[in-house]
Amino acid sequence: MEIISLPTVGFASNCFIVHNGKEAFVLDPSISEKTILKNLAERGLVLKGILLTHGHFDHIWRAQELRDETGVPLYVHELDAEMLTDADKNAYRTFTGNDFTIEKADVLLHDGDTISLGDEVITVMHTPGHTKGSVCYDTGDSLLTGDTIFAQGFGRYDLYGGDVNALKTSIQKLTKMAETENRWIFCGHGESSTLRQATERLKYYF
Ligand SMILES: [Zn+2]
Ligand SMILES: [Zn+2]
Repeated sequence: MEIISLPTVGFASNCFIVHNGKEAFVLDPSISEKTILKNLAERGLVLKGILLTHGHFDHIWRAQELRDETGVPLYVHELDAEMLTDADKNAYRTFTGNDFTIEKADVLLHDGDTISLGDEVITVMHTPGHTKGSVCYDTGDSLLTGDTIFAQGFGRYDLYGGDVNALKTSIQKLTKMAETENRWIFCGHGESSTLRQATERLKYYF
């Protein structure tokens, strides 16, 4: 599986395309659906679905438009499903005072679920703390971490659904994983890194 990072604009949340050369998933459609569709078309990729790492507005920003254009299903962890339809929970009202919601998800995810891409699978890892239903997506050699961990640091836990103890447990789970199965990590904001490098840094916080 290959991961393409699309140019970041607006709220500075990263949007990725995960593909196998034929079929693709878009992860966290934070940028214009036109840019996403152009990138898919240029590579001849067929979109299979939209994966969300969590329900914050900046990560779901153009999910509805992309769905309306393509008709593909939207995936989110069951515990973040409520955020898509509630501007207080997805934090848009907190930051702007305005309303922003999208239609509810088509597929609710749980820890350990697998999503097929051709003959390969993407595995869902539930990593709560930044939000209740934050997940990392494991492609086997890469981990898409959303706002759970970044190349340098971790996601805030003071917004709706945030929980510092849950985040600590999730980071410990990722630290343990890094000891035996290192991964490239593609994060919700900022640069990519490796899981081992990123979790090594977090030992100074927790
Ligand atoms: Zn977030
Ligand atoms: Zn974010």
